[in-house]
Amino acid sequence: MENLFIPIGGGSEIGASCYLYIIDGVKIVIDSGIRFSRGNPYPEFELLKALAPELDAIVITHAHVDHCGSVHILSQLYPETPIYTTNETAQLLSLMVEDAIKVRFIKERNCQKEWEEYKLLDKALSLVERRDFYDKIEIKGIEINLLPAGHILGASSVLIKYGEGKSVFHTGDISLSRQETVEGAKLPKGESIELLVSESTYFYSGKKFNREESEEEFFKSVRETVNRKGKILVPVFALGRAQEIILLISRGMREGKIPPITVYVDGLAREITNIYENLLEKEIFNYYVQPAPTYEGLSFKEACRENLREADCILSTSGMLLEGTPSYVYGELLSKRGENSIIMSGYLSEESFGYRLINDKEVLKRFKCQVRKHHFSAHSGKDELEVIRESLLPKRTVFVHGYPGSKDRLNHAFNREVIRF
Ligand SMILES: [Zn+2]
Ligand SMILES: [Zn+2]
Repeated sequence: MENLFIPIGGGSEIGASCYLYIIDGVKIVIDSGIRFSRGNPYPEFELLKALAPELDAIVITHAHVDHCGSVHILSQLYPETPIYTTNETAQLLSLMVEDAIKVRFIKERNCQKEWEEYKLLDKALSLVERRDFYDKIEIKGIEINLLPAGHILGASSVLIKYGEGKSVFHTGDISLSRQETVEGAKLPKGESIELLVSESTYFYSGKKFNREESEEEFFKSVRETVNRKGKILVPVFALGRAQEIILLISRGMREGKIPPITVYVDGLAREITNIYENLLEKEIFNYYVQPAPTYEGLSFKEACRENLREADCILSTSGMLLEGTPSYVYGELLSKRGENSIIMSGYLSEESFGYRLINDKEVLKRFKCQVRKHHFSAHSGKDELEVIRESLLPKRTVFVHGYPGSKDRLNHAFNREVIRF
């Protein structure tokens, strides 16, 4: 029987990840995300419904909204289909999707629709089946295993075993390198892999990461700012990067690489860090790094001003310094004085304000403070993605979740493209 793999979203883009597999007649969708850019935020659900009127399983790899932000919309289309994910992802997902709905409807100002979406999310959450890593999930004669993917807490790769000893490996967002909050990914062993579907966030740019170097540069930027009595903003993604940076700063203080400073964590990062503390059963907040206080009766901007008076350093979402988000408000306040710093710490999409601030001299001119970028990655660079391919020896590899250049299109799976294996 011919097996199919079709990206419904998240093919040659980072956003709206949604991948349909039809293997031995069993229909599985991995992930259901949203896009950050303007236009339709969802995967092409109409196409999905045409290709698969019924679904046997939905798997969510992790709780970043480009992988789970539309799970409630997908689940409405398939109200009987179980949603498999890890316990950690299940806990993080509800807060992340709720926030994505909130952010969208702040712009649209449509309370009725917003309320309906929360109800759909509740219904979807009731269909979630929590599984541990390596559990056998049996679906109509094929077996699915969730494997640790590194990346962020709870993130999994998906191994699908079928036929006589054959398998497909879907990396999801993956990192072989260990981070402060998660170990590196674990790859399957001894499998005969027909198809490897690999993420390619940093594949085409050829990026490699040197964590130690980035850490030293980050500490240096913090030291220099503190020495000239400036304040620091680190825009962070709420889930993953925020907790990594908190632990990095705490370690830097412990090891004497940066002086003791007061750090406030604001926005959604504050709530997500509380969930991390519960899941990891360890304290992430400490004497120096605290959740930012909230103030009754103050506007958000006034509260930010108050926090900047108290703290030396603010960690806040969004990580890409998107206009109208808390980090943007802090950034504007800090931009007025040359001794302050904004330190970018991760991925910046080309449409984001953070990207323009780094790359457009005209935008930078408006900011008197220092702007730095030290790259920490929760994704494997090109070198690690090659290691994955070489150690799994798949019969065929296709890349998704990335932007191939014009010359690298051959092994890339685009939205709507049908890959047969
Ligand atoms: Zn991710
Ligand atoms: Zn992603």
